[in-house]
Amino acid sequence: MKPVNFSFPTQIQFGPGVRARLGDVLKTRGKARPLVLTDQGVAGLPFFKSIVADLDKAGLATLVFSGVVGNPVKSQVTAGVAAFKTHNADSLVVIGGGAALDVGKAVALMAHHPGDLFDYEDDKPDGLPVDREIPFIVAMPTTSGTGSEVGRSAVISDDATHVKKIVFSPRLLAPVVLADPELTLGLPAGMTAATGMDALSHCVEAFLSKGFHPMCDGIALEGVRLVSQSLVACVKEPNDIEARTNMMMASMMGAVAFQKGLGVTHSLAHSLSAVCDLHHGLANAIMLPAAMRFNKSAVADRMARLAATVGAGTTADAFVDWLVALNAEIGTPKTLGAVGVQRGHLKALVDIAVEDVCHGCNEKPVTREDFESLFAEAL
Ligand SMILES: [Zn+2]
Repeated sequence: MKPVNFSFPTQIQFGPGVRARLGDVLKTRGKARPLVLTDQGVAGLPFFKSIVADLDKAGLATLVFSGVVGNPVKSQVTAGVAAFKTHNADSLVVIGGGAALDVGKAVALMAHHPGDLFDYEDDKPDGLPVDREIPFIVAMPTTSGTGSEVGRSAVISDDATHVKKIVFSPRLLAPVVLADPELTLGLPAGMTAATGMDALSHCVEAFLSKGFHPMCDGIALEGVRLVSQSLVACVKEPNDIEARTNMMMASMMGAVAFQKGLGVTHSLAHSLSAVCDLHHGLANAIMLPAAMRFNKSAVADRMARLAATVGAGTTADAFVDWLVALNAEIGTPKTLGAVGVQRGHLKALVDIAVEDVCHGCNEKPVTREDFESLFAEAL
């Protein structure tokens, strides 16, 4: 076989209450001036205010930037970089869901790098190298979905076109993650469900994707099992800290596993966010059953293993049935039509999905016609 590289380097401090360690984490690294970056929603929550108050008490000069709203776009990164420079910050604390974490990583990149953010787009032929200092980042997730806290890329959209661009460098990986499931206790049921289905789709698509990565496969399978044990409980019993803890772990496992690759579901979802501004997790949740029906013929054996992992049976069909039942139980809308997608969107949706990189890792090749029927089926 061809030699391959495996890399799992993040230090993760995990468990209820670990947010209290933030001041010490910064101080032991000699940091005194953190920029605390978050989204508008989180900025108003009591736990956020108390984290900032604790930093103040610890004698750290803290500036809060809460300019992340909705799907992350480049202008938010530009504003964050300006805040970083104005504060003369020496470190970045990123508290939030996938959007804040992606903006945070992009701000860290642009804090000391020249040019435009999109000059650093992954695989851009005339792109600029990530070769300067990246400020110390502490990532603190407040949702269990993207797992962006353990990822080395930032997905940022162009303000005007909404097209998502991926900025990638191993150096964007946060050196320390404080993963405190208590930060997800206040998440409403709809967001808990949508973000949880994103985590599930990462594990499922990584496990089914092309390529040789037994380590990621093992992590993906255990992530799927944790979701099967815990997501319904999180949605129905918002204060079930054990279930919340399992989902936070599954979310990080999904993001670690998809180093291996993702698949057709994510190309469908990326396009739905770009064209219809649909929430990424919700888009994955709605598309996952159709995408798995499409994939069945190519990866029946592996889907049968997924069925066994969730205790649904021993066939690929049993796994698809389980996904449909899970969506029903957590209240996912059944169709794209139910979330405002219309037939008139189809051409734009297909155009963007075809160009998306994720389906390049799908075991079964996906054609333009396949995307047309997948979107049409879900309408
Ligand atoms: Zn995703």
